[in-house]
Amino acid sequence: MTPTDAALAVADRVDAVRPWLIGCSRAELTSLLAGLGEPAFRARQLWHWLYARGARDFASMTTLAKSLRTSLSERARVGRPQVTSEQISADGTRKWLLAFDDGKEAETVFIPEADRGTLCISSQVGCTLTCRFCHTGTQRLVRNLSAGEIVGQLLLARDALHDWPSRPDGRLITNVVLMGMGEPLFNYDNVAAALRIVMDAEGIAISRRRITLSTSGVVPMIARVGAELGVKLAISLHAATDAVRDALVPINRKYPLATLMAACRGYPGLDNGNRITFEYVMLAGVNDSADDARSLLRLVAGIPCKFNLIPFNPWPGAPYACSSPSAIERFAQILSDGGYTAPVRQPRGQDIMAACGQLRSASERERLSRLKARLATGLVDDDHAPLPRTDHA
Ligand code: SAH
Ligand code: SF4
Repeated sequence: MTPTDAALAVADRVDAVRPWLIGCSRAELTSLLAGLGEPAFRARQLWHWLYARGARDFASMTTLAKSLRTSLSERARVGRPQVTSEQISADGTRKWLLAFDDGKEAETVFIPEADRGTLCISSQVGCTLTCRFCHTGTQRLVRNLSAGEIVGQLLLARDALHDWPSRPDGRLITNVVLMGMGEPLFNYDNVAAALRIVMDAEGIAISRRRITLSTSGVVPMIARVGAELGVKLAISLHAATDAVRDALVPINRKYPLATLMAACRGYPGLDNGNRITFEYVMLAGVNDSADDARSLLRLVAGIPCKFNLIPFNPWPGAPYACSSPSAIERFAQILSDGGYTAPVRQPRGQDIMAACGQLRSASERERLSRLKARLATGLVDDDHAPLPRTDHA
């Protein structure tokens, strides 16, 4: 690396003002380069560096002229979230707490399995919804993630796993699920822009069949997901009646089960090979009876679907407990006797608290207790001001 390249690489890391290129569409890159007097094929080269090679700075983009690399670096950064903490579970699950340029944090989890590697990414910092069993819903700091911050989680995970260059087989991250923090359909435009980048055949190239978007049930957006993105759909159902779902998943009061099921029935491309996944968190004495399972069968009749039974992952102060193993087994058996696949999700990364929202909450708790300690000693300064209030998306 020449001294100029080294300087560029350093500048790329330290300056937080220039915008990220990560998250730009092909059209945006083309117009950026056109503004610099470059032909359209340069955008394709840049795209390749960003998304097929995983370049983290302009200095390494050796097929671009040095003058162009300098011009680009004066205007933009490649872009990556910063790793606040990384935890690796005994079962191979890895969890990153990531900080973005404004210091806001979200988490990303990699779950290796025998036949695939799934990356669970976040769509928002926190969540404006308040599902009663979900810790993310109790967090006060909320904002949408940009397209770059969403796709940046995948790029960062690939960096950490040494999973570059992007190639169709042999790679570690094969699947993506939007099941981290946030409600993806409250941030549709940025999620859609990020997924278009993830699916692009000349870049990351993860097919829509290997991407699953999970929603709590933002009914008016479901048809658009099907028509515009065509990814797999997961619905956080958690109840078979409006009475129970109203209490667990408050968005149900706006979009009740009848409208949600109608949207599911209309989801394009459903068949036996492409089924909706209904996620169902098992809560003791709340939604786990044999009657609940039978109501569920009636509710989904006719929809090509499968279930994913999720043992409730408790958090401090949670108002629920996980169903007993025998209740979960009985529930799963009724669904399976009804002809549906209904695996019980195996807890992964329990030693690193890899459940929805928990790592970030742990770091928030740590900061709060540090702040309390400083308040007790009267040592509060600007750097240790109380956590900001909610800034809703
Ligand atoms: N907001 C979207 C996606 C993120 S949540 C949604 O709700 O679908 C991903 C899944 O984890 C959802 O099914 C959610 O209901 C579930 N979940 C949240 N908190 C949980 C907990 N404490 N234990 C088990 N599953 C939980
Ligand atoms: Fe938000 Fe999903 Fe948690 Fe509900 S379950 S609060 S929608 S992240």
